[in-house]
Amino acid sequence: MKKICFIIAMQAEGQPLIEHFGMKQLPHCFGNLPMKAYQSQYKDIEISLILNGQDAQTGLDHIGCEAATLATHLAITNFHPDLLINAGTAGGFMKKGARIGDVYLSHKYIVFHDRRVSIGAWQKMGFGYYPCFDSDTIAKVCGYKQGICTTGSSLDLPEIDLQQMQKTEGEIKDMEAAAIAWVADLYRAPVLCIKSITDLVDSGRPTAEEFNENIHLAAQKVKEACFRIIDFFASQNKQI
Ligand code: SAH
Repeated sequence: MKKICFIIAMQAEGQPLIEHFGMKQLPHCFGNLPMKAYQSQYKDIEISLILNGQDAQTGLDHIGCEAATLATHLAITNFHPDLLINAGTAGGFMKKGARIGDVYLSHKYIVFHDRRVSIGAWQKMGFGYYPCFDSDTIAKVCGYKQGICTTGSSLDLPEIDLQQMQKTEGEIKDMEAAAIAWVADLYRAPVLCIKSITDLVDSGRPTAEEFNENIHLAAQKVKEACFRIIDFFASQNKQI
């Protein structure tokens, strides 16, 4: 594991990590595109990080699947990472034991919950079921939870999406992971998601309110987890 690339949607999610690893921005990396690239060397690992940048119309971060797809293509073709890490925040389920600030690692597969195509095998294609990096050892050694990441284009959770999630056992709800995993799968690049819970979708509170309250705590938790996991890979490299 000599080259690791992080893909992060929001500046607030990525900034603590950029500071922690003392990463420098690579100027003019992607022409006029809004995505920004950062890099640093940590022990024997080259760490790259892509932030999606901001939308010219609203000034807000480019969240969601479209930007994530493009960022992942840029990440793989520019940095050729041994591992892609999608670090960020997600919604969790209280009834499945999630708490605000918990860190989850992706496992088994990554799916979509809002691509409904009820025609034979198209349904399975809609879900995606993309492979992800086997996180069992890291979860055990570092003490993180694991969950099936499930992605959609909305922050809210209508009943129909909830029903879809129940079919896949999805429980870590975000807006990018499956898009990233799709591109990663096309390139046969391994992908791991590290997500900290900003909101509990079954808490009865408005998700946006919980998100805004907890984004800074969650970003710190993600940063700590990413650092720990990079350290784990560095110690494994030493043993080889
Ligand atoms: N209100 C925020 C917008 C955040 S949108 C703002 O002030 O800019 C949600 C982002 O966090 C997405 O990138 C998504 O991946 C993640 N996320 C966190 N909780 C989520 C949830 N419950 N559902 C979907 N995405 C969530």
